[in-house]
Amino acid sequence: MPRVLSGIQPTGNLHLGNYLGAIANWAAMQDSHECLFCVVDLHAITLFQDPASLRSATRDMTAALLASGIDPARSVLFNQSAVPQHAELGWVLGCVARVGWLNRMTQFKDKAGKDREGSSVGLYVYPVLQAADILVYKATHVPVGDDQKQHLELARDIAVKFNTDYGVELFPLPEPVIGLGGGATRIMSLRDGTAKMSKSDPSANSRIDLTDDAETIAAKIRKAKSDADALPSEVAGLADRPEARNLVGIYAALAKTSPDAVLRQFGGQGFGVFKPALADLTVATLAPITAAYRERRADEAALDSVLAEGAAKARAIAAPVLAEVYETIGFLTRC
Ligand code: ATP
Ligand code: MG
Repeated sequence: MPRVLSGIQPTGNLHLGNYLGAIANWAAMQDSHECLFCVVDLHAITLFQDPASLRSATRDMTAALLASGIDPARSVLFNQSAVPQHAELGWVLGCVARVGWLNRMTQFKDKAGKDREGSSVGLYVYPVLQAADILVYKATHVPVGDDQKQHLELARDIAVKFNTDYGVELFPLPEPVIGLGGGATRIMSLRDGTAKMSKSDPSANSRIDLTDDAETIAAKIRKAKSDADALPSEVAGLADRPEARNLVGIYAALAKTSPDAVLRQFGGQGFGVFKPALADLTVATLAPITAAYRERRADEAALDSVLAEGAAKARAIAAPVLAEVYETIGFLTRC
């Protein structure tokens, strides 16, 4: 069975972009794949996190994943720091990756902004740790949103260079998994159709969180940036309208249909009609998840034991892979 690894940062609430771009796919893959899902707390600290908030956000994210249909009986669900092999392989792969490769990563440029010199070294080498997350399980498939495709390509480059340098076939090359609707879904900010919806965007109105209630969702969609024109009847008509294209894309992803099908239904209508319909569909999709989230989040002991059990299973897979890597490199066997 193909083995899947994917991760999400405990840096805020799960939002609609995470859900449609990643988590809904994760849940759907559990029957046909061996799945490992990871709350990536080591990645979270690339930007400073208040310790109490990080602990709480790790449990929030675990509850949100369970509420979104991740089933610990079928999948391995754990927090990254509980499996030390990620960081250990991360060091090795950092010695394989080239500085020039990392310099090309656009997410570092986005996240570091103008203060590159003041960014943490961790933020810069983050894609190397991400490669270790995947390769330490010899994962064959990685479902990620569109924003992470460049990092997955880097993971493949690192795997190829390791295999070539040492003359082994140790790491399989991980493949990206195509998202819902046949293409990688990228959900954009509700305030700016050219920036991705993100947990770390300071404006809460830029995203819909899975914990938002019906009124909040409706208000955020009502206030979402749009334009005064009616919707076109074909996708080509959205070319210069990033906000309109995003809202149509969200509707399509929620309805599990294509943007063209949405425009067949709403072409010729204005946002006065389309936004309330989008709000209703969003609320209907998220309401059961929100209810399940509240129930799960209330039982911290149960969340912690899900993570602990998941981490034990993950270590059992990762430890022999790391041992194989160390043997290949020429490290003496550790006791
Ligand atoms: P942060 O701003 O802290 O980086 P994030 O919103 O980008 O948070 P991540 O934890 O980095 O979320 O990513 C979790 C998963 O969600 C990844 O697979 C990523 O590709 C996906 N994802 C994140 N944002 C979007 C988006 N706007 N559209 C589609 N997928 C997304
Ligand atoms: Mg991100």
